[in-house]
Amino acid sequence: MKIAILSRSPSLYSTNRLVEAARFKGHEARVINPLKCYMNITAHRPEIYYRQEKLEGFDAVIPRIGASITFYGLAVLRQFEMMGVYCLNESVAIGRSRDKLRSLQLLSRKGIGMPITAFAHSPDDTRNVIDLVKGAPLVLKLLEGTQGVGVVMAETNKAAESVIEAFRGLHANILVQEFIAEAGGTDIRCLVVGDRVMAAMKRTAKDGEFRSNLHRGGSAAAIKLTPEERSTAIRSARILGLNCAGVDILRSNHGPVVMEVNSSPGLRGIEECTSKDVAGRIIEFIEKNAKPGKTKTKGKG
Ligand code: ADP
Ligand code: MG
Repeated sequence: MKIAILSRSPSLYSTNRLVEAARFKGHEARVINPLKCYMNITAHRPEIYYRQEKLEGFDAVIPRIGASITFYGLAVLRQFEMMGVYCLNESVAIGRSRDKLRSLQLLSRKGIGMPITAFAHSPDDTRNVIDLVKGAPLVLKLLEGTQGVGVVMAETNKAAESVIEAFRGLHANILVQEFIAEAGGTDIRCLVVGDRVMAAMKRTAKDGEFRSNLHRGGSAAAIKLTPEERSTAIRSARILGLNCAGVDILRSNHGPVVMEVNSSPGLRGIEECTSKDVAGRIIEFIEKNAKPGKTKTKGKG
């Protein structure tokens, strides 16, 4: 097969591993920087150009689109979908996962457990929103943050009110969320491919920090999931329509709660700590599923 990996940099660990895994299995793999693509979006025959070259003949696309280039990256991916190329994760599904509010609403509809989460527009509601999530300590999140940036803990109601008002002043949209203290600064990253959890790790925040993101200095260890955690992760990925996802779960007193679902999960931390060949599993999934025109939305969303 001829596989395109949409990524800004071939030297990133995850990009590199996907290329390596694809070539190891006898496929042609090519890294394409979506920002260097330009498109003819007219209806008759969708086309994509990369520098001078017209991109043709791809059997599958693996999108690795960073949060900072979501808008253009998804436009390029949608164009591949319109051309009938199979995409591991489709643009609509990635778009859903990038918006924490939208994805939590979708998960909630289907009964996935999550921390009590509130959202409001008007400053008049600040106090009520804080009460809804049972008061401080609570967590405030920028709607489109990633890697722990934009996630803030407020230890008192007063602090929560000031931070909410400050964010409002900046016209930033934020979620207000119950703080799951019993998770003890630890969360679980489940790497889902298709209908299986291929690897899972426990991430623990460094001292004095509640965010367990590896980018925030968290440490990782392999973990055995409970059947409930496993099925929660798989269902969450499916509800958002992602074939490949990193589902983040907290162990709460009332069972597993999902915090977020990432559509371009990093492979380094999880491969290193579990010694699993996640990139290889992703390529195998594509081998089984990639067929021309099998894209579900065909760029419709
Ligand atoms: P990001 O997209 O920036 O990774 P997350 O929602 O995943 O944002 O939050 C980052 C980290 O903060 C999580 O991995 C977790 O360790 C911690 N965290 C987030 N929400 C909660 C919460 N409601 N209760 C306890 N810890 C939380
Ligand atoms: Mg996260």
